[in-house]
Amino acid sequence: MWGLLIGMADPRGTLMSWSIKLGTIKGIEIRVHVTFFLILIWAAAEGLSQSGGGWGRAIFGVLSTCLLFVCVVLHELGHSLVAIHFGGRVRNIILLPIGGVAQMESLPDKPIHELLVAIAGPAVNFVIATVLMLIALPMIRAEIPTGLLVTLSSPRAWYVLIAFVVRLLFRLLDGIDWRALVLYLLGANASLGIFNLLPAFPMDGGRVLRGLLALWLDYLRATRIAINVGQSLAVILGFFGILTANWMLMLIAVFIFFSAGQEGRVVEARVVLGNLRVEQVLNSQAPSLSPLHSLAHVLDVASHLRQANFPVMQGTRLVGVLTQDDVLAALHQYGVEVRVGRVMRRQFPIVRPTDTLLHARQLIAQSGIKALPVMNGSVVLGLISLQDIDAAYLLSATPHLA
Ligand SMILES: [Zn+2]
Repeated sequence: MWGLLIGMADPRGTLMSWSIKLGTIKGIEIRVHVTFFLILIWAAAEGLSQSGGGWGRAIFGVLSTCLLFVCVVLHELGHSLVAIHFGGRVRNIILLPIGGVAQMESLPDKPIHELLVAIAGPAVNFVIATVLMLIALPMIRAEIPTGLLVTLSSPRAWYVLIAFVVRLLFRLLDGIDWRALVLYLLGANASLGIFNLLPAFPMDGGRVLRGLLALWLDYLRATRIAINVGQSLAVILGFFGILTANWMLMLIAVFIFFSAGQEGRVVEARVVLGNLRVEQVLNSQAPSLSPLHSLAHVLDVASHLRQANFPVMQGTRLVGVLTQDDVLAALHQYGVEVRVGRVMRRQFPIVRPTDTLLHARQLIAQSGIKALPVMNGSVVLGLISLQDIDAAYLLSATPHLA
């Protein structure tokens, strides 16, 4: 058995390159990461190696694993479709050996919407579990001792029933019994729903808690409280893991503790950068280049003025951008004599002075160009670079992070 952790974002977007597209649902690409196939091989190998195992068992293992991951996709689709309903954008859902990740390009802004998006995933698993329970009950009714089902009014009877069903599951798993598949998926969906509702980032429950708090408190404060709750929970889980010598639990506790802190830094950056405007940190003294300048001239200017990125002007018209990365790449490829006009970037997004630093940072991330021109109408005011934004963030951010 393996743990399933369901995240909602892959900020670096590095998972895409090693994944294969399975299909598209409502404009969302469903992809599977190459490492996912390791899980299938593992499931098949386990079926083959068990005592009394064989190809039948191997296929059974692969099939149940695939069906479990169908449930994971449905969980992520739950998040995604609700997010799209509230104006968010979802690029894709990627299946990993540890679970699924929905890559959201933009999330709904309102706390109540974020709350509904977060709760939609686990809700899907609870719905699946309920349907499977309705299917499973008639299937296993014959196996359940008479009398057990009649007395379900007391909690103890439920406990006895669950213990009985788990024992039955293991007995059925000894043979290739399809009822075992139903019970396995029932248990897996129930645990997926419950585990993901733990009130700790990066689990859905952390976002649900933050969304609830943000209905009354400001977003940053709600995030800090949710992080503290999650980290306290992680400490309790960790202690429990130590007491019971459960390594898996200890690992999960450490993972939750550090992921929660990470969420705090991300939100802090988003809030701080969302409150600063480009005109406040704009480098308006940036000297410009002409397309006819050589790279040797650029290096000369760069070393004298400690300037790494340049707008390229023809008269008063902006015709290009040359960043430090571009200069280094061009030097490597063409040497110092090449003209700026040949190696500059001609396609680039433009930032307005009233844009937030958050918006500028998103444009830089999307375009991959580390400095963008700031324009007021057709007038170039200067450049804003990733370094400018990071420096402004360091100056403005509160020294203690939640
Ligand atoms: Zn989720």
